[in-house]
Amino acid sequence: MLKLPGLIDPHVHMREPGASHKEDWDTGTSAALAGGVTLVLAMPNTNPPIFDAETFDLALTSAAAKARCDYAHYVGAGPENARAVAALASQAAGLKMYLDMTFGQLRLDDMTLWQEHFQHWPRERPIVAHSESRSMAAVILMAALYDRSVHIAHISLREEILLIKAAKQRGIKVTCEVAPHPLFLTQDDMPAISRGHPGRGEVRPRLATQADVEALWQNLEVIDCFATDHAPHTLAEKDGENPPPGFPGLETALPLLLTAVHAKRLTIDDLLLRMVTNPRKIFGLPEQPETWVEVDENAEYEIHAAEMKSRCGWTPFEGWKVRGRVRRVVLRNQEAFKDGDVLSSPGSGHNVRLPSKSNS
Ligand SMILES: [Zn+2]
Repeated sequence: MLKLPGLIDPHVHMREPGASHKEDWDTGTSAALAGGVTLVLAMPNTNPPIFDAETFDLALTSAAAKARCDYAHYVGAGPENARAVAALASQAAGLKMYLDMTFGQLRLDDMTLWQEHFQHWPRERPIVAHSESRSMAAVILMAALYDRSVHIAHISLREEILLIKAAKQRGIKVTCEVAPHPLFLTQDDMPAISRGHPGRGEVRPRLATQADVEALWQNLEVIDCFATDHAPHTLAEKDGENPPPGFPGLETALPLLLTAVHAKRLTIDDLLLRMVTNPRKIFGLPEQPETWVEVDENAEYEIHAAEMKSRCGWTPFEGWKVRGRVRRVVLRNQEAFKDGDVLSSPGSGHNVRLPSKSNS
């Protein structure tokens, strides 16, 4: 049995408020524990989006009532809220900027709006950018101009990892994360994922080429974090008229990566650096005392959505053979997951940005 520290996932979508038919704080944090994740950072593009004191309170109330693992919540950058969200920074996981989005209340049409957020958001709190390709280059420039850090979400392209590598070499304070799907899937996997329903393969960033996947593996040292970008949608939605982009990922990340460890594509230390040490450092997260994950590293099995805790009911990795199964998770000295059952109760998770409770 392999004993690991509780994993940290700095990029999940809990879908609450507004879309709890896909996922909510109960099922989403259950999925986290089943995947060996004991601390999640939740994204603000819910409905309504979390972008001021009132909506932030709405999200935190749901999380406080239902979360079964520890968490913190992002606030979203909008066109008119730079001062208002900065006032929430001490309680937030970080500021999320959607720089490739073309609609909604988190739309940032021109770069002067980005600058306002870079001016007001406190330097010691993370800014996370959804920025693909050239908008990624632009936000890295912004970080350099303001001499502060920026974290690039879910990179997937060769040109992206090479640019981040060059920026780091110049001393620009940029960090990045990669989700499991760009490490294990390419455009060529679309038919197998789709099974006749092309919407299932919809994800942003889109699945890339074999050359992109290889560039990510060849530049592993540039990747600071593995983050799932757990983005659940129901199969009915994925197979419907306007399939929303996104894959669930919380329950498949660790087994996929442990299988890669077994295949000697990376080491356990590589994995823990990117799923514990670096996220803790980049996002300024506290240690979780008496918290660990027990993994049967030799258990071989097939991934099946039917066995998962996520409400969305499917996975792009259906039928994949993996090696390494989470057997038990202990969170703050309490058994939180054992042999397929989530044991921690809704509301037992702590918001790590708030002063810690004395007990429970
Ligand atoms: Zn995302």
